[in-house]
This record gives sequence, C-alpha cells and structure tokens, in this order.
Amino acid sequence: MGESNGEMEIEVLENDIRTLRKLLREKVQQLKTLKKHFQKNCITKLNNDEIARYSRQIILSDIGVQGQLKLKKASVLVVGAGGLGCPSALYLAGAGIGRIGVLDYDEVELTNLHRQLLHTEATIGLTKVDSVQAQLEQLNSQIEIQTHHTQLTSDNAIVILEQYDVIVDRIPIVYRPEYGVRFCGLQKLHPFDAAKGGNIYRLLKGNGLVQNDDDIYAPNEITLEELLDVHTKRYIESLKWSLNVAKIAEIPPLIFVPNCFVQRSYLRPMRYQTAGSILAARAALESGLGWAINLGGGFHHCSADRGGGFCPYADITLTVRMLQGSGKGVERILIVDLDAHQGNGYERDLMDDAGVFIMDMYNYHIYPRDHPAKLAIRRAVELKPHTDDEEYLRKLRKCLQQSLAEFEPNFIIYNAGTDVLKGDPLGLLDITPEGVIERDEIVFRAAMERSIPLVMLLSGGYLRSSARVIANSIINLRDKALLPTVQ
Ligand SMILES: [Zn+2]
Repeated sequence: MGESNGEMEIEVLENDIRTLRKLLREKVQQLKTLKKHFQKNCITKLNNDEIARYSRQIILSDIGVQGQLKLKKASVLVVGAGGLGCPSALYLAGAGIGRIGVLDYDEVELTNLHRQLLHTEATIGLTKVDSVQAQLEQLNSQIEIQTHHTQLTSDNAIVILEQYDVIVDRIPIVYRPEYGVRFCGLQKLHPFDAAKGGNIYRLLKGNGLVQNDDDIYAPNEITLEELLDVHTKRYIESLKWSLNVAKIAEIPPLIFVPNCFVQRSYLRPMRYQTAGSILAARAALESGLGWAINLGGGFHHCSADRGGGFCPYADITLTVRMLQGSGKGVERILIVDLDAHQGNGYERDLMDDAGVFIMDMYNYHIYPRDHPAKLAIRRAVELKPHTDDEEYLRKLRKCLQQSLAEFEPNFIIYNAGTDVLKGDPLGLLDITPEGVIERDEIVFRAAMERSIPLVMLLSGGYLRSSARVIANSIINLRDKALLPTVQ
C-alpha cells in the first residue's frame, strides 16, 4: 500500500516539474521579447557585460575588441543538433557569435544524451532545437538563438541558408551504403574493388574521424531529370540494354543478365555515387569549410552521350554544370585529374568552356588514348609507364603551381584516382602508398593556402589495397590540419 502511494507521489511530482518547466520556458521567452523591445541590441560596440565576459579572448592580439565585434555581428547556422551540432553550438555561443541558428527536425530521446551534450533529462520529448535554445540561453543571454524545426531540403535551403554568414554542418564526407556494386560475384570478373567506398568508410570510422552515420552527408539517388541536364536522352535510353552496360562496365557476361538486375546492382549504385559528387561539391562550396570528399564518383571516361571505362554517368560534367548554375559566382573551375587514365569523358563535354581549366596527368600508353579529347586539356602531363614517386610528385608540384597561377580558379574538382599505385593492373604506374598520400596533401595544401574550395572524387583504383591507402591519406590530411571541421 505504502509503495503504491509512493509511486503516485513520484508521478504527481514529475508532472508538476514538467508543468513548471514549461511555464519557466514561457516566462523566459516573454522576458526575452520584452528585453529585445526595450533595449535595442547595439552591435556597434561591446557593453560592459560583454567586455567582462569575453575579456580572456579580447586580450589575444589576434582578436581584440574589433575581432570580438566581428563575432558579435556574425551569424552562424548549425545544421543538425546532434553529436556534432551540440558541441559546435556550445562553443559558438561561448565565444559570442551574435546570432546562432539551429536547424533540426528531431526530438530529444534518452539514447541521445550520451554524446549530444546539450540535451538533458529535462528536455527529453522536446524538439532538439528548443532543447539547444534553452541551454544556449542559459550560457549566454547576450546572443540571439534562432530555431528552425525542419529538415533542410532543396525547397527551403536557399531561404534558410541565406540568412547566415557561415553554415556549420556535418563532416563534408559523402557516402551511403548504396554505393556498393553487387553482381552476385560477377564484379570479380573486373579487377575492381566494388566495395571501395564502404571499406574506406569503415576505416575512417575505426579511426574516429567519423563517429556516427549522421555525421556525414548521404546523397539521394540522382533522378532521370537531373541526368538529362547533361546527358542525351538517347544515351540514357541505351543503358536499358544490358549489352551497352556490359561494354561500359567491362564485364562481358553482363550481356546475359536481365537489365532490371543490371539497373539494381550496377547502375543504381553509380547513380548514388554520381549524386554524391554533386552533393560533395555543393558542401565544399556552401559549408564554409572549403572541402568535401565523395567516397565514390570520378567517372571521368563518361561524356554526355557516351559511357566507357567503367563510367556510366558523367558526374564531373554534371558537377561543373551545378557549380556554374549555383549563383555563387563560381566562374573558374580547375579540374585536377590525377587518375592514371586520361579523363576523356568530361574533356569532350567541356571542350569549349572557357570557365573550365583542365589539368590532366596520365599514363599515355594506356586506355583511352582519346586524341580529339586531348584538345580540351590546358595543361597535360603525359607519364611513361612505371613512372616513380620522385618524377611524379615533381611534375605534379610544377604543373599545379602553373595552373593555379595562370587560371586563378575559384573552385577545384580533384579527381584522385588511386590506379597510379604500383601493381595496379590497369594504371601501370609505380607510385607508392606514401607517394599517393603526399600527392593528396600537395593538392589539398595548394587549395587551402589560396582559400579555394575543393571537392575530391575517388575515381579509379582497382587494387584491394586502394581503400586503405585512401583512408590513410584522408587521415593524414586531417592530421596536417588540411580538413578543417568545427569539432
Ligand atoms: Zn583510371
């Protein structure tokens, strides 16, 4: 009897606390509105409270009063109030960013509390944005917190994003499990690591660079309509015939496989990866971090009306067209193609585009030897088979330097094929894993030093060891502070 009375009492108290908390939130909101009305928030100088609060960072010579005022005038949108968004928002509020937006569509659950450090037992059941707002207001009442309880979609993105100076988002790595090509073993007939993206992703997770699946970007499948922005209808129709796809995928027995199966196990993963390249470029451009990596894509042998060399969709041309139409002033795009093969697909598409500068380093003895497409290359480095690290890296440094100086790009698409690795049956070059890691570092450093946004696509690389080399290279970039994040 006593026990059940106790339980009832607990329930009554818990209900009371919930009601009081709700009331408290309403009062805080009222007070905020009143304060806003009566004390016009002055952003041209710091008030006494702010001078005291930020004194430890104002005395730093790099910040000073002017720097602190800049922070006060700045606005930052934090996309996602989860494991990455919470600590970001916390530090931004602490540092005195004048206006912080928080965007999330989810509600707080008990399972969130172990790592999404702004949510508490008291906010379980509330929307995450309200939970974050309540915590940040307790930390810093001098700043403004704006909430967006919604999911970011192509319909609302522009309206929301344009209200902010900087967008703090997920880690700009793009991947989803649907990237994996599966042919029930048929993929083994092509010397191709069909699970490359997934293997890299697992290694990055093992290393702690990515902690949760919602820390990264996952693309939707590209639609037919989007493909037709670049591709001809005739070409897309031709993919309905397994014979044509077998030629592109270089797996002859595919001829005997029904097209619906070919669509599901090969073309669909490639459509995800294609969308991933476009999404990654968008993230590099809009996140404010200046870089993004798609753990796939780089189908540089495909053009608007022709596939080949395992490349069924022209993701590079599609990415260029997205960037040019983005309205973000991307007028000069540099393509740095370091796959072992010549990038003849986009070269054919972008032949007459003065806004694109193509730098292509490739083994000239191997596929595709596309002479007409070569006319599009503004800076070509033709490598002999079995070129080693020393010669390769020396030529890369020189050529990249010249291309950047001549063209002054404001965006870089880096096609980072790893078929340059020694022992690759198709690339026939002799670059060591250390050479590949240094190569990626040279490209990222060149972009970062000049503040040019860069998107990296994986392209070819058919050795099983490729995934490990790429993961090690991405970790090296992180260790060298070339992959800024907000963590
Ligand atoms: Zn290649």
